[in-house]
Amino acid sequence: MTMTHLMNTYARLPVAFVRGQGIWVWDESGKRYLDALAGIAVNTLGHAHPRLVKTVAEQAARLIHVSNLYRITEQEQLADKLAAISGMDNAFFCNSGCEANEAAIKIARLHGHGRGIDSPAIVVMESAFHGRTLATLSATGSRKVQAGFEPLVSGFVRVPFNDLESVRQVAEHNRNIVAVLVEPIQGEGGIRVCDAEYLRGLREVCDSHGWLLMLDEVQCGLGRTGAWFVYQNAGILPDVLTLAKGLASGIPIGVCLARGAAAGAFKPGNHGSTFGGNPLACAAALATLEVIEQDRLMENAARIGSLLRVELARALGDTKGVVEIRGHGLMIGIELDRPCGDLVKLALEAGLLINVTADNVIRMLPALVMGESEVHALVSTLAPLVRDFLAAPQAQAARA
Ligand code: PLP
Repeated sequence: MTMTHLMNTYARLPVAFVRGQGIWVWDESGKRYLDALAGIAVNTLGHAHPRLVKTVAEQAARLIHVSNLYRITEQEQLADKLAAISGMDNAFFCNSGCEANEAAIKIARLHGHGRGIDSPAIVVMESAFHGRTLATLSATGSRKVQAGFEPLVSGFVRVPFNDLESVRQVAEHNRNIVAVLVEPIQGEGGIRVCDAEYLRGLREVCDSHGWLLMLDEVQCGLGRTGAWFVYQNAGILPDVLTLAKGLASGIPIGVCLARGAAAGAFKPGNHGSTFGGNPLACAAALATLEVIEQDRLMENAARIGSLLRVELARALGDTKGVVEIRGHGLMIGIELDRPCGDLVKLALEAGLLINVTADNVIRMLPALVMGESEVHALVSTLAPLVRDFLAAPQAQAARA
């Protein structure tokens, strides 16, 4: 292992990338890789998109940062645009997904206190992922993420994902609940898609109890599934919506959007961020949303995503050990019947960037600019790796 002054927070792969173009990246030795992960759903427009590069360069030359002590025109424009595409009213800008969820959790607590509830609690889901700050790791449904950081932040009640009945039961017994926080497609949890019926049911339960429906679309939102947001397929609106990752195609930004009473919960002094929504990040986000619209990238995500699932099913559907190929648009998981973390390194050697989540789910979150020929390149690289991995004696042994 090389000496480093970095904290040991990541089990990093032994590769450093120096340049990217579209859905391809190159390492220090000049080797090319197909990037099917896009920085975990971040590089929405792929690498080095000319319109994003131009916008960022021009904005950097004009004004990178001021402070939220002043009006920020780009931030106001981005809030308008996000409100128009999401149906939400107001935006609070921050720098990451966990911060967006922190804002949501604080809004829920204010909402509860406003209703005279002293110990407000939020319903959260098993296998959810909401971030790694103390509040968001407490909301996260993974012991691995929480272990060692106790005491956890209180005020979360956990139920199984995609199970409306258990939310209804909590509603009957717990008078402290003020909100439900859920990912419409769980990303880290293994690309688990909930039913549209479930989202509609949650909307009803929240309405009848005065709870806030808070959707975390940090990973699944912003065009990846073929619509701006996953909840739009269910024909509902949340009260609170959190976004980050792909919003500015790689420039750090997060946002907590809110509607109705929730939109007015924060008053001056309740919340803030030094960097949140600075001119550079907002200009990059505005350019990202504009390119998604102008280049019809949502349609592309839906079409290329279906093609990718069809091709993966054709190549791997009958392979013993492949449990399910699932997802929506360009958010795709292949569940195997055994842990498969080793595939990440094998794919890297073969020139392909993927990731494995929930131990046994191969995850792909490519840029929305992916084309048909790249689907074929991906499948023809990945399928033999998966087949060989499943046939290898050590994988059989690991399973036994
Ligand atoms: N919420 C979801 C659904 C996520 O997938 C993630 C990150 O993977 C987060 C929140 C946390 O985002 P960040 O790492 O930007 O804090």
